[in-house]
Amino acid sequence: MTFAEIGLHPAILAALTDSGYSVPTAVQIQAIPAAIEGRDLMVSSQTGSGKTAAFMLPALHHLALQERPPGGPRSLRQERRPAAARGYERQRFQAAQPRMLVLTPTRELALQVTAATEKYGRQLHQVRAVAILGGMPYPKQMELLGRNPEILVATPGRLIDHMSSGKIDFARLQMLVLDEADRMLDMGFIEDIERIVAATPATRQTMLFSATLDGTVGEMAQRMTRNALRIQVDAPSSRHEHIEQRMHFVDDLAHKNRLLDHLLRDAAIDQALVFTATKRDADNVSDRLNVAGLNAAALHGDMHQGARNRTLAAVRRGQVRILVATDVAARGIDVPTITHVFNYDLPKAAEDYVHRIGRTGRAGRSGLAISLVHHAEQFNVRKIERFIRQPIPVEVVAGHEPTRHPAPAKPRPPGKPAWQGADKRTPGLPAGQADKRFAKPAAPWRDGLSRTGRHDSPQKASHGGGRRAYGER
Ligand code: AMP
Repeated sequence: MTFAEIGLHPAILAALTDSGYSVPTAVQIQAIPAAIEGRDLMVSSQTGSGKTAAFMLPALHHLALQERPPGGPRSLRQERRPAAARGYERQRFQAAQPRMLVLTPTRELALQVTAATEKYGRQLHQVRAVAILGGMPYPKQMELLGRNPEILVATPGRLIDHMSSGKIDFARLQMLVLDEADRMLDMGFIEDIERIVAATPATRQTMLFSATLDGTVGEMAQRMTRNALRIQVDAPSSRHEHIEQRMHFVDDLAHKNRLLDHLLRDAAIDQALVFTATKRDADNVSDRLNVAGLNAAALHGDMHQGARNRTLAAVRRGQVRILVATDVAARGIDVPTITHVFNYDLPKAAEDYVHRIGRTGRAGRSGLAISLVHHAEQFNVRKIERFIRQPIPVEVVAGHEPTRHPAPAKPRPPGKPAWQGADKRTPGLPAGQADKRFAKPAAPWRDGLSRTGRHDSPQKASHGGGRRAYGER
């Protein structure tokens, strides 16, 4: 099936051709025709599947059909708002009345969606999209809202602020999209979402996208949609077909840093994304890599939005080779030239692993995801392997071997795949026991860390896990 066969508006087809999209992705094939018909959607699809276009193309299609012909008496925007009322001065009296609202969990994803909208809708001159995000100065946002955009892409918190002060009126809203709905729930936005949805017309079309439709997010989706078409797409990236995964065991932080430096010098790396557990570590690792002569920058939630945007723009322009980021800042990053993702620290939640590695192997390219893992983190590794339903191969780099080698896999119980059942790396321990043994400290060797990332003396380790980790060296 082609985009033309789906019946999209010619102006959108032209933009897709310019963008180099020849065929729709699996989620687009299923979602776009149903959305054009006006159906509500509950879509389970992973990052990298092309989900943004899956909701934005039908939305733009509807808006395009509502556009007035060029040269006609008035454009949509003019019809709704007299020219004199469009200035900043009048905004407080006339709220923005968007036709489409996209809610996203993070600022980066909101900007990403806005950029995609501009790309797909660039031939629709009367359709304007703006992003309303936390961290952006209010006067700037008032000015954006004063343009009365057809499409609002927003993070829930800041949107509520504007709704409360009467700057936004959803009376004319036709389409509501909840993007990465599971993430928004994880981030505690449920009440904000309920409040926003309650302020929109019951006649709206609702499209909800989420990595999973199980549990709370599924219940919320049921509540917020009407007779929704349920679409389940196994995106290529959810099966990680384009992304090779590896794991290296490290003895301690110094070993981890040496190995990271070594791996980052691989000429095959176009651009790399390194994930750390904390904002401080993102800064520290980035500083250390720059001192080591590698071109790195940090990205995390403590940075001002302007600085985050500048860093991301520099990455997109190829001026930064290594981006060191925390999970929250990395959500929504879509830079096709990221060839490698490194987990300097493993994520706490297994599904975050999928989001992280999905930052490479984008738009049909291949990617490599490398996790640096301490032996005491095998519990986390097993959680991730169970979640992605595949084992992550362990590799060793000559000259950077860990002191403690991973044990060979135990023969697996009949009928169970390799990533289930007995502990593969701890011979003699049945499944589950290794979990208990390693569950306590997530990263015990960190206890002896100073702010500069050096190891303090082992005696400073404050709990048994730390001492055991040092003792193992
Ligand atoms: P998303 O899952 O929306 O974040 O999209 C992942 C990537 O796929 C983005 O870089 C899109 O620009 C790209 N993309 C989306 N749809 C298509 C398509 N039909 N053909 C090629 N690339 C696409």
